[in-house]
Amino acid sequence: MKKPFVTKEQIEEIVKTYPTPFHLYDEKGIRENAKAVKEAFAWNPGYKEFFAVKATPNPFIIDILRDYGCGCDCASLTELEMAHAMGIPGEDIMFSSNDTPALEYAYAAKIGATINLDDFTHIDFLEEAAGAIPKTISMRYNPGGIYEVSNGIMDNPQDAKYGFTKKQLFDGTEILMKKGAEHFGIHAFLVSNTVTNDYYPALARDLFALAKELKEKTGAHVAFINLSGGVGVAYRPDQTPNDIRVIGEGVRKAYEEILVPAGMGDVAIYTEMGRFMLAPYGHLVTKAIHEKHTYKEYIGVDACAVNLMRPAMYGAYHHITVLGKENAPCDHRYDVTGSLCENNDKFAIDRDLPEIEMGDYLVIHEAGAHGYSMGYNYNGKLKSAELLLKEDGSVQLIRRAEEPKDYYATFDQFPIYEKLLAADKESGRK
Ligand SMILES: *Cc1c(COP(=O)(O)O)cnc(C)c1O
Repeated sequence: MKKPFVTKEQIEEIVKTYPTPFHLYDEKGIRENAKAVKEAFAWNPGYKEFFAVKATPNPFIIDILRDYGCGCDCASLTELEMAHAMGIPGEDIMFSSNDTPALEYAYAAKIGATINLDDFTHIDFLEEAAGAIPKTISMRYNPGGIYEVSNGIMDNPQDAKYGFTKKQLFDGTEILMKKGAEHFGIHAFLVSNTVTNDYYPALARDLFALAKELKEKTGAHVAFINLSGGVGVAYRPDQTPNDIRVIGEGVRKAYEEILVPAGMGDVAIYTEMGRFMLAPYGHLVTKAIHEKHTYKEYIGVDACAVNLMRPAMYGAYHHITVLGKENAPCDHRYDVTGSLCENNDKFAIDRDLPEIEMGDYLVIHEAGAHGYSMGYNYNGKLKSAELLLKEDGSVQLIRRAEEPKDYYATFDQFPIYEKLLAADKESGRK
């Protein structure tokens, strides 16, 4: 059974200051998990987790992860700016972007981030944009075909827009060496949200063999292998969560079998996990405000897809707990909906839950990654606050809720702006 990291009593206290809906993060859980990740790869002296900023782009969260040696994986100019503004040194920033604007490459080079090229044609593009090829450079590899890990867990790299083909990777290495690159990284992200301990070890095996071949054929110094993201979490209660220690050991075994005998025992292992670092340690907390009995039974809550888009976008399952009814029988079947004028704005469809009464608080699980950050403003909905449940049980506001003035800000040079603010003043909204 999935248990929330907060109780009904705690939420009743929190809502006195911060009304629902909001995202709540569990500092204790984040720390314990980050520590386990660090320990799982401690066998590799160069190991570093570059947290995928897009998953949870909040400086307070990133600061917690930094206590465990994590850097940042950025994919856009704003993410780079955020990392730089936080004082994160260039060597702790990975820039794994694609379809990259010239300015973004120039800025990444300027702040000393490691650039992970997405494409062969980006070699010349980067040289032009940044003025030179950095001494350390990474390339994203796409093997094509279908990549199968274990019992049905697979994806189609051949349909993915990312990365170099194998031939491009070898040719690219030689060109980059001529242009002054000295240390190389190989990166690949082949399957998303893998709930198996086999993905990283299998990927590592393939990338280690590739690195060995690259070194033999080109003489390039491979400095790191970046296993990127893709380590999943158990969104469904019947799934077995990944064990990062088993995953770390699996990668170590491949490392000792392939890289060490090849005289490549100095290669650093990098990861860029987002989901695994944060998803389980974030709840979207929302309140039941309507019940509707038509052809189905509906519960309307005060959150909607702008707070958590994954169910609407991917049909993704997110577990729901009705606070205070953790042990009640799930003898009611509901669609749990948000208020967008979009019929896919449903957090759950045909979900068996305890009887829900108006005013009940619902916790939507695994919202800590790709949750708040995917939010948008459809229907003029404003993004919620982000709160941190600290280890001592207190609650810290780590991002305020959006206000109408934020939504209207892009009209601030037009005459309508003052009228919009005046209308909001009259609305009674708090
Ligand atoms: C999204 C992304 C990640 C993080 O993926 P998760 O599944 O959240 O671990 C890492 N690297 C790159 C390049 C990404 O695009």
